Amino acid sequence: MPAMGARILVVEDEPQLRSLLRLYLERDGHAVADAGDGPTALAAFDRDGADLVILDLMLPGMQGETVLEALRDAGDVPVLITSAKRSDAERIAGLRAGADDYLPKPFNPHELTARVAAILRRSRGAAVDAPPPIISLDRGRLVLDPGSRRFTVAGGEPGRLTPGESALLVALAARPGAVLARQQLLDVVARRPDEVFERVVDVHVANIRRKVGDDAGEPWLIETVPATGYRLVANVDPVP
Ligand code: CA
Repeated sequence: MPAMGARILVVEDEPQLRSLLRLYLERDGHAVADAGDGPTALAAFDRDGADLVILDLMLPGMQGETVLEALRDAGDVPVLITSAKRSDAERIAGLRAGADDYLPKPFNPHELTARVAAILRRSRGAAVDAPPPIISLDRGRLVLDPGSRRFTVAGGEPGRLTPGESALLVALAARPGAVLARQQLLDVVARRPDEVFERVVDVHVANIRRKVGDDAGEPWLIETVPATGYRLVANVDPVP
């Protein structure tokens, strides 16, 4: 297997599409396991793990949303949703539930392999590069280790950010007080530069706020700058 090959689990109930995805992914040097339904997929993931899961939402029996939930409970494997549900609301719901990307059906297989490469680059970038320094804000009110993406927050439960959320917060913390436009932040999380996916930035910010107990109305962490983007309002503590 080439160095860049990843272990990819394809969850898709349509046999022809499953074979097609396998063909394309294997051609890119990935090791592919597949499953036609949710329970089979979760059993395979439990047994063998995966570096990335490609998940169809409309599955017989257990729904893809339930599979996503179980995967999120198990850890932070990147998930790319493929679905015929294509409204903005449904895409945003998928991202909010913890998917890393959402590709509406029907899709061009080249588009899929490009998205897979982008997701793997992001998740590996975090693992391969020297771990960025721990970020401490407001005298330790929030402490984030971008390497593990684990955080602690005063008065709240410790938790973990997704790769996209962590990258976004790191970018904001690199320029405290400066307004960063959605498009700049979108570049950080490496999404498609179309209107729908600019909203990915908003979803990531909403998720961060929920996890760390920030209040959009009276923020101590991230302030929304209307029609522009976001800025970090917390102070960045000096690196000890
Ligand atoms: Ca399906």
